[in-house]
Amino acid sequence: MIYRRMADGIPRETAADDIAFDRHYDVIVAGTGTAGSFAVLAAAMQGVSVLGVDRFSGAGGMSTFGYVDGYYYGANGGMYEKIDREGKALQDEMFLGKVEAKQYLLEKKAADQGAEFLFETVVTGVYLNGKTVRGISVLTEDGVQNLACEMLIDATAEAEVCAMAGCAVDCGRQSDGKTRPYTSVKVWVTEEGNIARTNHDSGYINQYDPKELSNAILAAHESQLLGEFRNKHGRVLFLAPSIGIREGRRILAEETVTMQKILDGDQTKTPLFYAYSDFDKHGKDNALETELLQDWYVASNLSTVCLSVPISIKSLIPKGYRSLLTAGRHIGVDHDTASLVRMKKDMFKCGESAGVCAALAVKKGVQPIDLPYKEVREILQETGCLQEENNVGIMFDDQYRRMQVRWLTDENEIRRELAGDMPGIAIYSCKRLGNRMAEELKQWMSGADGNELLRSNCAIALGLIGDKACLPVLRDIVRNRDSFYYKDNRRTNQLRTVIAIYLAGKLGDMELAPMLKEILLDEREYGKGLYHEITKTSYLFNPNRNFNEVYFQVISYAAVSLIRIMEKHPENQEFRKEGLKILKEAFGDDFHIQKTTSMPEGTFEYASMQNIRDYVNRYCRKKL
Ligand SMILES: Cc1cc2nc3c(=O)[nH]c(=O)nc-3n(C[C@H](O)[C@H](O)[C@H](O)COP(=O)(O)OP(=O)(O)OC[C@H]3O[C@@H](n4cnc5c(N)ncnc54)[C@H](O)[C@@H]3O)c2cc1C
Repeated sequence: MIYRRMADGIPRETAADDIAFDRHYDVIVAGTGTAGSFAVLAAAMQGVSVLGVDRFSGAGGMSTFGYVDGYYYGANGGMYEKIDREGKALQDEMFLGKVEAKQYLLEKKAADQGAEFLFETVVTGVYLNGKTVRGISVLTEDGVQNLACEMLIDATAEAEVCAMAGCAVDCGRQSDGKTRPYTSVKVWVTEEGNIARTNHDSGYINQYDPKELSNAILAAHESQLLGEFRNKHGRVLFLAPSIGIREGRRILAEETVTMQKILDGDQTKTPLFYAYSDFDKHGKDNALETELLQDWYVASNLSTVCLSVPISIKSLIPKGYRSLLTAGRHIGVDHDTASLVRMKKDMFKCGESAGVCAALAVKKGVQPIDLPYKEVREILQETGCLQEENNVGIMFDDQYRRMQVRWLTDENEIRRELAGDMPGIAIYSCKRLGNRMAEELKQWMSGADGNELLRSNCAIALGLIGDKACLPVLRDIVRNRDSFYYKDNRRTNQLRTVIAIYLAGKLGDMELAPMLKEILLDEREYGKGLYHEITKTSYLFNPNRNFNEVYFQVISYAAVSLIRIMEKHPENQEFRKEGLKILKEAFGDDFHIQKTTSMPEGTFEYASMQNIRDYVNRYCRKKL
């Protein structure tokens, strides 16, 4: 037996052959948050002995201590629905808010089923035989305890136990390692006496650096006093006890779900549940995301389109490990998908599925991966956790339209859609069809006869396919600082100029470089019309007026595209020298940050341009 724990961010291993466990459980759930609380309940309902451990003084995690009381998408069904109904009745009877009623029920229901809890207790280490988990160590008010189990569910949201155990984990985006923005949640009372919650995105955080985490929490709390975030009509009741972290480590699973696989329809046939949302990534710095996400979110303007994603048992199992499952936002998904597979309803179902599988595996004496799917499916179907109705594919799902997305293959249909201001589906359909569409697109583009939408949209579709015939049109769009933005989405619609800069950069267009130089260095740039005309909320991610989103997007794309163009032409030393000079000058000071926002350092608005500046400066240092 070995014992593994984290020290200075690194997993450390010691021999533990003579360990004597204090107690033994069939299933231990590390973290009784959004997913973990349902894992405890579901496992206990299968009649096995269960212990739930949490560092907070109760169950529910982000849903209760983080005060995330509402739902944003997520698929319906599962045990949470009954708890919600009972919670509503209980709230009407005796609680002020639904969060407190729900927490009470989550704890009581599980305890009634015989589950035990250790609250105010931190999981500190894990015992293994090779890659088979045997138990954990915890730090309680009473000191350290060692607890054995047949099956462990890591529901810490941060893959904490998996990281201790040495499982392969990933974290953050490829470009700069950043995870999704974190948020301070404020709970306040309206003038009418109702309780309201306001999310306030606070910037970027490395939650694994204790000092940085603490400073970020201080900054987030302090920024609640800024004029932009004050409640003009109401009083703050409290700031949520848990800071809102959206993303951290994710496991590399037996089957990791990627955005590419989702869009290709390459999905499991043995789901435990379906997740459902858009790629709700929160950050504005799109230019630092993967090309696939930018093709979807920026070039095709499909940011708020929702997708249903089936999740199998293999995505809950860290690759190569036994007697270990995960439940929560750290399951096996890539960074892009992590912004889709994390909604509360889906995390409830994730916990329920993990609890059922862990308990069944113990009862049958097998590993969860070897469970007969039919049996698992029947149990999950009974509560509605798994229902085929949730397999809705790709959807427009907002107040404007609720309809399934159908990829286009018919040329006439594609041409018709490309002539409109909501061409996202047609553009992404062209990407799917690839070179087969190139000739038609070129013809339509050149014969557009004053149909400016058709001309531009054909160029964008050609750009996505990778055909350079689009470049003259894309350059025109940038030269004119075209202020048109698309209309496919209820928010985060994309600006044509930004799409053109992105695609020309992706195609390595050196002729765009003088325009990028002008955007980045000419002080008159900020005075141009487009930076001051667009104020509609259908363009903005959040309507905080103290952030010039158009300027931010154009500047950030100009910088990142210039880097892309340089990377495409490594042989051209002169071009590289000039490019680095432009970037150094543009980001040598905080000129662009100040033009974007007057919010102070430590705010999300400031951090957005800071991310671009840091990325560019890192690149320049590396290349010089
Ligand atoms: C600010 C914010 C707003 C959101 N808004 C919405 C929304 O409106 N609608 C929606 O559907 N979703 C929303 N989400 C997403 C959703 O709330 C989360 O993705 C989800 O709650 C995560 O569930 P989880 O079980 O993975 O993590 P959590 O609920 O955070 O649970 C993890 C638990 O593990 C415990 N833990 C961690 N480490 C240890 C340890 N070492 N020892 C003991 N215990 C440990 C923690 O205390 C916690 O209780 C929001 C998220 C955030 C951050």
